[in-house]
Amino acid sequence: MHRDPDADALGSSLGWASYLLKKGHEVTVISPTDYAANLRWLSGMENVLVYEKASEQGKCKKKIEQATLICCLDFSALSRLKDLGKVVQDAAAPKMMIDHHLEPEHFAKWMVWDTKAAATAQLVYELVKEMEGGLPAEQLFDIPMAECLYAGIMTDTGSFRHGNVTPAVHLAVADLMRTGFDSSRVHRLIYDNAPLSRLQFLGYVLSQKLVVLPEYRTAYMVLTEAELQKFNSSSGETEGIVNYGLQVENVVMSAMFIERKGEVKISFRSVGTFSVRDLASTHFSGGGHKNASGGRSEQSVNETVARFLSILPSYQEELLSVD
Ligand code: 5GP
Ligand code: MN
Repeated sequence: MHRDPDADALGSSLGWASYLLKKGHEVTVISPTDYAANLRWLSGMENVLVYEKASEQGKCKKKIEQATLICCLDFSALSRLKDLGKVVQDAAAPKMMIDHHLEPEHFAKWMVWDTKAAATAQLVYELVKEMEGGLPAEQLFDIPMAECLYAGIMTDTGSFRHGNVTPAVHLAVADLMRTGFDSSRVHRLIYDNAPLSRLQFLGYVLSQKLVVLPEYRTAYMVLTEAELQKFNSSSGETEGIVNYGLQVENVVMSAMFIERKGEVKISFRSVGTFSVRDLASTHFSGGGHKNASGGRSEQSVNETVARFLSILPSYQEELLSVD
């Protein structure tokens, strides 16, 4: 799975791992970096190895070197693995990709790849169904597996409200619900499970840091390392805050700049026809989806924001034309 894994990266990987385990394979799930605390309850998490942790890195390398198959879920560029990318690239085993991001690299022998899929977890669901001749979900998935896949689909669709929701999404979820898992509990565990500090931090960001530029229908927020330290904020606590920019009337693009460990991590969100993926890949060495993308910059946070502001005029016409 990709670095800083979200619920789709983790949920799809864990769901796929459960399926392979059921089929009698020996499976190791590896994350390049640590993950947010509200995902710790996902079934199988206790066995996930984190490459970035010094105590687990040796084991990760060994597992990848010895593997007979490497499954790459929810990413299609090895750079999304951070330092782990080189290890995977050099590994002898063939790779299988299951992903829904645009413009994949061609490192995989097998690709289950569909940019129209709302989530990688949706692709895992469909792949398992197809491999098992379309049996009903309750015969293929147990409750923990269904929860993992549901968590991925729910979060990547913004709880079923983004433009990527299709009949296939609701059909998959309806089928998964036949296992009897509690979908409301999954939602609560992910979204209503924050430490008080996260809400206080969110209050600070929205009241002090949110800037709206009506002439560009753009909102943005900048967070410095010092502010993050002040709120003792972990990476999980900034997750999702960028979305709030889109709640402002008429805003069609929201950006968040986070200064962390000597680089600036940028998150972009948009609605409708405006592609933040193009903006992120053209200007901020990033990519992602049309309406949710990210990138990074090695310039200072001030220089990075200045560069962002300087490119807005070239997008003005496109931003103003969003329906
Ligand atoms: P987030 O803002 O949640 O970190 O990222 C949103 C989406 O943008 C992710 O699902 C991922 O597809 C993409 N993304 C984020 N950061 C990067 C990056 O540095 N490079 C690429 N290619 N995609 C990214
Ligand atoms: Mn995804």
